[in-house]
Amino acid sequence: MKVYKFGGASVRNADGVRNLRTIIEGESELFVIVSAMGKTTNALEGVFDCCRKGDIAGAEAKIDEITAYHQTIIDDLFGEPHPLAQVEAFVAELHRFVVTVPYDASRAEERYDRTVAFGELISTSIISEWLASVGIANHWVDMRRCFVTQFRHKDANVLLDESSPLLRREVAGSQTRVFIGQGFIGSAADGSTTTLGREGSDYSAAVVANILNAESMTVWKDVNGILNADPKIFPDARKIDALNYVDTIELAYSGAQIIHPKTIKPLQNKSIPLYVRPFGDKGAEGTKIDGTAANVTMPIIILKRNQSLLKLRSRDLSFVLEEKFPIVFSTLERFRIKTNLINNSAVDLRLCVEESWRLEEAAEQLRDEGFDVQIESSVELLTIQNYDPETLSKYIESPRNIIKQANAETIRVVRTKE
Ligand code: ASP
Ligand code: MG
Repeated sequence: MKVYKFGGASVRNADGVRNLRTIIEGESELFVIVSAMGKTTNALEGVFDCCRKGDIAGAEAKIDEITAYHQTIIDDLFGEPHPLAQVEAFVAELHRFVVTVPYDASRAEERYDRTVAFGELISTSIISEWLASVGIANHWVDMRRCFVTQFRHKDANVLLDESSPLLRREVAGSQTRVFIGQGFIGSAADGSTTTLGREGSDYSAAVVANILNAESMTVWKDVNGILNADPKIFPDARKIDALNYVDTIELAYSGAQIIHPKTIKPLQNKSIPLYVRPFGDKGAEGTKIDGTAANVTMPIIILKRNQSLLKLRSRDLSFVLEEKFPIVFSTLERFRIKTNLINNSAVDLRLCVEESWRLEEAAEQLRDEGFDVQIESSVELLTIQNYDPETLSKYIESPRNIIKQANAETIRVVRTKE
């Protein structure tokens, strides 16, 4: 069995779906994991935001836009107006949920998961039905019934022991050997839908590969493979042909938009190679990731946008690291706020965190816990691994820098946005 993963960009329109067909054609034992089409997850986050603000009419308008976007793709694929019952059922379910279930702040993350999961449910329904219509028999898998996750909304991990028998049974019971399943989603033991973290479809594919002992996993992307920088920001970016698991996980964790950081462990645990290949060029080699590649030595430049700087000072002057660390991190964890860099002195703690709609609430909590808290929003985090004098002078030195941290290989700066 091979596992392929297609991200939202690769299936953002009908041509993308037709290209997916070209790529999978001829494969006989294949599990395909697909994300939501284009920017659908962002649009569904918009639906959730409207509900959070009590704007149900706004949420309905956004659902209409999402529906129209998918219908355009469906009609293009089938060459005529073509209603798909399963897609219509999902849209109706989302709509019903939005208008009939009142927003409850104490269950915000659960509601978020239930809302955004429709992106993948709809994309896989369209792709599965269209593939069948053009002669590629396939088995649509509801990953909510195969992935049992932690009881943790918005950023759950898949529980391998519980999920393995479910996924294996689903696969063993099917005559058809091409499977189409959703990335990003699963469900907790109580049956509620969970999501695995934004961009988590890579991780879904890796877990499928692990459970099914796949021979390989391939992520089909809109780049030629893994590059040493984002070519949209750094025009002299170069492709890396081979990477080992450890370097890849470090890169991903620093924010390289290549692969979700949780992807590597399930693959490494079973020594499954991962290929990152361009979906526009089936013949191109891309990047191979496995346990054997040498360490990368070229500089790798990673810019993480949409960060905030949280500045904390313990009001009673207790030492932040010794006495306050657990309180800070358990509070941030409760609001699902991800920390990307830590900088401390005796009584000050500065954290570069992902932007989040719950940051103000978390700050309030921390004030109650005895901190003075300031938030500086709109910062970014730049990381350079294997930095050298050239990359230092070209990218790091800047009057915008607020924090600079370095060890022998890696330098990181938090700076204001340009
Ligand atoms: N659709 C989800 C997202 O946009 C998951 C993914 O793309 O991997 O975050
Ligand atoms: Mg996506």
